[in-house]
Amino acid sequence: MRGTLRHPDGEALLAGFPNEVDRLRELVDQRLRTRPADYNRLFGDLVVLAGRYHWSASLWDFTDDFYAVSCPDCEAEVTIAVGDYGCYAAIRDWDLGDIERRSLRPAQAEELRDPGRWMHATAVRDGQQRLAEGIRYAFGQAECPACASVFNIAEAHTAANLPPALETY
Ligand SMILES: [Zn+2]
Repeated sequence: MRGTLRHPDGEALLAGFPNEVDRLRELVDQRLRTRPADYNRLFGDLVVLAGRYHWSASLWDFTDDFYAVSCPDCEAEVTIAVGDYGCYAAIRDWDLGDIERRSLRPAQAEELRDPGRWMHATAVRDGQQRLAEGIRYAFGQAECPACASVFNIAEAHTAANLPPALETY
């Protein structure tokens, strides 16, 4: 299922097996409740089983990630960092590294929308504080270092990874 978007008929194929997909999702959710050591990887599986295929394209594990997105206003390429290196938006310079860093603005848990909302609730349920925190950042807002406009990171990520016809969020 992680390869769905790379397969020309991937989505149509899976649409023929809704019960099996639901059952698999249940099983993965049950497994997550046991707080396994490979929690983040399994969490990625759950996200895919919920039909959010493009989230797996960049394997967000929300604890140590970089995403490249385009600023919706000026189209500058902005690097989003979430994790041990900090939570910021920056311009990536091959020689100088991430320059002109701007702190991300995490969403408050109560203002999260789906899929961020249920992803966050699942991580909190299972005591995965670091993951839950990362989700609040990834579904929050960033300030473009080039033009200072503030944009929604998840929407920019979706635009960068999905053909427009498939955008659901
Ligand atoms: Zn910009």
